[in-house]
Amino acid sequence: MNTQDYINREDRYGAHNYHPLPVVLERGEGPFVWDVEGKRYFDFLSAYSAVNQGHCHPRIIRALTEQAQKLTLTSRAFYNAVLGEYEEYITSYFKYDKVLPMNSGAEADETALKLCRKWAYKVKGIRQDNAKIICCEGNFHGRTITIVSMSTDPDARNHYGPFTPGFIIIPYNDINALEEALKDPDVAGFLVEPIQGEAGVFVPDEGYLKKAYDLCKKNNVLFIADEVQTGLARTGKLLACEHENVRPDVLILGKALSGGVMPISAVLADDDIMLTIKPGEHGSTFGGNPLAGKVAIEALKVLKEENLAENAERLGQIFRDEIKSVKSDMIEKVRGKGLLNAVVIRPKGGKTAWDVCLAMKEMGVIAKPTHEHIIRFAPPLVINEEQLREAIDLIKQAFKLFE
Ligand SMILES: *Cc1c(COP(=O)(O)O)cnc(C)c1O
Repeated sequence: MNTQDYINREDRYGAHNYHPLPVVLERGEGPFVWDVEGKRYFDFLSAYSAVNQGHCHPRIIRALTEQAQKLTLTSRAFYNAVLGEYEEYITSYFKYDKVLPMNSGAEADETALKLCRKWAYKVKGIRQDNAKIICCEGNFHGRTITIVSMSTDPDARNHYGPFTPGFIIIPYNDINALEEALKDPDVAGFLVEPIQGEAGVFVPDEGYLKKAYDLCKKNNVLFIADEVQTGLARTGKLLACEHENVRPDVLILGKALSGGVMPISAVLADDDIMLTIKPGEHGSTFGGNPLAGKVAIEALKVLKEENLAENAERLGQIFRDEIKSVKSDMIEKVRGKGLLNAVVIRPKGGKTAWDVCLAMKEMGVIAKPTHEHIIRFAPPLVINEEQLREAIDLIKQAFKLFE
């Protein structure tokens, strides 16, 4: 079978809810992936930042395979020998009292919303069914009905109504809009991405998160950070909120929490918030399974022991400097933090961000446009300087093809 045969088979038997770049991958190692024809690529998407630790990290794979031969799933109807170890590890790692384990990022976001509403009624004292949560235009928190109820992206919402009520949508990076929205006494939480990843790597003004946090405190409103994409060393700190010394009341993690090995997500909070949910009031069959526990512990250890945040900070600076120096009238803007970056593409002669991605793929670098005219560049954080410079050269050659 060649590349086209694989593509045709997916097209024939799979739902058409994605439009992938025409490359079929079969193997990965560190920052590299190989296609079914043996060609090597730099992975500059990292499965939307799930593979921060690099493809098939040997330590994470060892943790996975060792635990897989012992015990994989018990459900939460019983205790298992790993969950407590994982809970102790992750809560001391991020300095929260408690963790609630889930699987996908969307589930963790849903969990945070439910937790916020519970807290609203049981602690803050909002009248039953009146709680509101503020979120931001351009947000991405996943794909469930409730989550797309917060979305302002027509593709995410169209024909999926009726939607879940209880959200106030304000512009991102607009502190006055937040201050105004917080005047509503029924507001219980503010859900925000420290950098909007899916929207196209929108980095808010310096000080925005801190001011937003302070406003939330002043109004007895939970500051809920969705760090599913920005967290876990991606932006040059363990959490993107650390750039402004903000400690979210509720912290949402996913993606790289498993190093890309399996779906593992988590919500972290202190007792006054987390213990508002009682037995039977929330859960997940797979959430907190022993396989996930061992994998997540190892994935978190790798982040620290391999200094991936420092690497992201240093190499991110090099990446932005180099790409900004490229003389191409298709490059409108370069922005980002750490190794979460984006290039805004100015279409030229009918050629768009998609065409640039196809050209990069030919050169040996794969990335994907987000929202038509933006390309996100997010390699695994284990990439070294020499590899990064090699990839940058390939990216530059791709841009040259359009001159
Ligand atoms: C990817 C993402 C999610 C959803 O995660 P899934 O595992 O795809 O459900 C939520 N929030 C943010 C910020 C994300 O980037």
